[in-house]
Amino acid sequence: MRFSFQKKCRRGDPAVSPCEKNAAVCPAGDDTASGAAHGGEKHPLRFLWWLVCLPLAGGLQLAARTVPGFGEWYAVHIYPLLAQPVNFITGLLPFSAMELVCCALLAAAPVLAVRLVLRLVREKDAKVRLRRALYALARLACLVSAALLAFTLLCGINYHRYTFAQHSGLPVQDSTAAELRALCEELAQSANALAPQVPRDENGVADLLGEGFGSVADAADAAYAAAARIYPVLGGSYGSAKPMLGSFFMSRLQLTGIFFPFTVESNVNALAPSYNVPATVCHELAHLRGFMREDEANFLAYFACMQSADVRLVYSGTVLALVHAGNALAKADPEAYVQLRGSYTEPLLRDLAANNAYWARFEDKPLSELGEKVNDTYLKANGQADGTRSYGRMVDLLLAERRARLG
Ligand SMILES: [Zn+2]
Repeated sequence: MRFSFQKKCRRGDPAVSPCEKNAAVCPAGDDTASGAAHGGEKHPLRFLWWLVCLPLAGGLQLAARTVPGFGEWYAVHIYPLLAQPVNFITGLLPFSAMELVCCALLAAAPVLAVRLVLRLVREKDAKVRLRRALYALARLACLVSAALLAFTLLCGINYHRYTFAQHSGLPVQDSTAAELRALCEELAQSANALAPQVPRDENGVADLLGEGFGSVADAADAAYAAAARIYPVLGGSYGSAKPMLGSFFMSRLQLTGIFFPFTVESNVNALAPSYNVPATVCHELAHLRGFMREDEANFLAYFACMQSADVRLVYSGTVLALVHAGNALAKADPEAYVQLRGSYTEPLLRDLAANNAYWARFEDKPLSELGEKVNDTYLKANGQADGTRSYGRMVDLLLAERRARLG
């Protein structure tokens, strides 16, 4: 499940805390010397044409990174033509197709590997044994090539489109500590006012999934429809985010959501503290609409939540923005951050404490460290030089949005 092609998203309040049988992809080539027995005319290496996917993927990646405007042209004109049909098909399933694919791969890989090893061990003819091993490697290379091309088409090029600031005209620039402080105060004021309005459990902690995940997912779709009326680039015919059956595994990896390009699905950890969930849904929906950079997906999550008439989304988006802006303030002006924290009301503090307590259970564990490392490497490989730190750069967009709002 943790392949390098996945988008991974996490958040918190850190300041306060295949294969001999891969016929589906590689047409069943004969891995023995008896190709003639399978029809005679068919060449046993005919499946190798799949390797053309590799230079295709490489060429597209190179063009996205070096040809000005190519990434944006692709994101606007080609990506929707590929993504929307795939998303429609996987959307017919009431569960995450990504989880189905990952489980199938995890189950099939060891079986196929053991089967290959047994065949190699039992083979007496050294030449046939070598040929079988090479064929297996060639099929694996075909599969990897096809996966790289699919990744590039359904996600990789989008990392190199225009920034959302370019789309929106928001004036991203260096900001003063005073501007950051003012932004934090505004967000804290809003969060304090919204906190008592959202549903809460018997412990007084926000419980935004009481009406089910589907209710939040529907509200998020409506929020994006509203956001698309302001920025049409956020429109498109895309399905809803899905809750993951493997949410607990996601928590162990310290992840709140994944956009999976192979099934073009937004998948969400439904076990994360619920004040996170609506914003996470909107974050993953931003990726689904072709905005892959993490800072932009976070900002778009906030922006979409702000267009919602549903207080659960407005609260979730506001706290998302407050946590990231607060973390930036803690670095820029620690004293001002302490003052800011002092202004948080009890319900908000309870939600932040519950969030920190939840994630603390999974910290400093091998899986969480692996999740962080893979995500960081993945982001850097896709041109996001800041790696996982890029999530926090949403603050630049928040400041720009405030600047534009105030004129
Ligand atoms: Zn993300």
